[in-house]
Amino acid sequence: MFQQMSEQQLRELHLELSEKYNEFKSRNLSLDMSRGKPSPEQLDLSLEMLGCVNADSGYKSENGFDCRNYGVLDGIRECKILFADLLGVDEDNIIVGGNSSLTIMFDYIAQCMISGAGAEPWSHVDGIKFICPVPGYDRHFSICEYFGIGMIPVPLLEDGPDMDMVEELIKDPKVKGMFVVPKYSNPCGNTFSDECVRRFSDLKPAAEDFRVIWDNAYCIHDIYDKSDELLNIFEACKGKKSEDYFIEVTSTSKISFPGSGVSAIAASKSNIEMVRKRMTIQTIGNDKLNQLRHAKFFKDVDGLKAHMKLHAEKLRPRFELIIEAFESELSGKGIASWTNPNGGYFISLDVLDGCAKKVVKMCKDAGLVLTGAGATFPYGNDENDRNIRIAPSYPSIDELKQAVEGLCICVQLVCVEKLLEK
Ligand code: PMP
Repeated sequence: MFQQMSEQQLRELHLELSEKYNEFKSRNLSLDMSRGKPSPEQLDLSLEMLGCVNADSGYKSENGFDCRNYGVLDGIRECKILFADLLGVDEDNIIVGGNSSLTIMFDYIAQCMISGAGAEPWSHVDGIKFICPVPGYDRHFSICEYFGIGMIPVPLLEDGPDMDMVEELIKDPKVKGMFVVPKYSNPCGNTFSDECVRRFSDLKPAAEDFRVIWDNAYCIHDIYDKSDELLNIFEACKGKKSEDYFIEVTSTSKISFPGSGVSAIAASKSNIEMVRKRMTIQTIGNDKLNQLRHAKFFKDVDGLKAHMKLHAEKLRPRFELIIEAFESELSGKGIASWTNPNGGYFISLDVLDGCAKKVVKMCKDAGLVLTGAGATFPYGNDENDRNIRIAPSYPSIDELKQAVEGLCICVQLVCVEKLLEK
């Protein structure tokens, strides 16, 4: 434990770590662990898809629709079935979107602001708020900020958000909803427990138009055979009249190609109707050739799952490398704790309070880019200045080794400095 060291011992350690840091810096590296992007090797796994739709295969969907032309607002049937089976809902409860689930989420919130979600438009109500589990996904926070929706941070615990707090907060009719990542959350990698999902399905919000954006971006993104199981929210809602509160989204961004995948929304019949109605104004239809490519390449949900095992082979060694380095360099020192998820794209690292920003800055000065400290909190404000999101997917194994070596040096150095301040 660094906390038990004498000042003299800390000073000696500081000297030793400073030398290591200077050596690391002198390597003039350019490393990036900032965003959850699949590696080039992962992208190669889906390359064959690009040849799946051509003159030989024809361009027609299962029911004979020519996917080269206008039409089919909410997705070709085979793609709807793919997502319906993936999320465990009926195909009538699916709308296939464009290349990004983030767009679906943004458009849905815009729809609530402008036209409402079954009640008056949210923009007519002063001071509406969303509950934000933290640490969380920066782009959810950005959407809230863009629309002027206030954010109330609630701790994300190991088995989901602090539901006691959520149940209390929703008594306020101005609390209109929340964004959650129920499986392999970004950045912690936690999965909501059955109990947590049931408590969500039992919510009785004061706002009748309360909406939880159930962002299931990592629904089949296991990296180990021992995968986390997430209870199906719509199953949990059965017989409880709460299904309208949930808007589930997902995409193939981290299954096929980020930015060139296919997204989907799963929701109750009435919510699907409201979204479809808005879409008739917004578009004539999304990219059906891409939907057809995906349906032909993956065939069915088992095809998707088999494909994710190939991704897992690329991701697992990267996650393990980071976790092993943390274990050997940081554990038992009283300066850091981290998550060790079974899937998803991120590891969440907590360092001594007041140290995260400095760690990220020191890493950057030495050529290692991390997600900005604070990004995992609303308004970029991590009150404790302790959380750092680690994204191990993109760099090569060799780059990762160097990156985590540098990161561990910086964490220790900044924490020693903090302790010396005291
Ligand atoms: N939701 C979460 C939780 C994510 O981590 C990401 C990607 N980083 C997205 C959504 C974005 O997904 P898409 O590419 O489908 O817009």
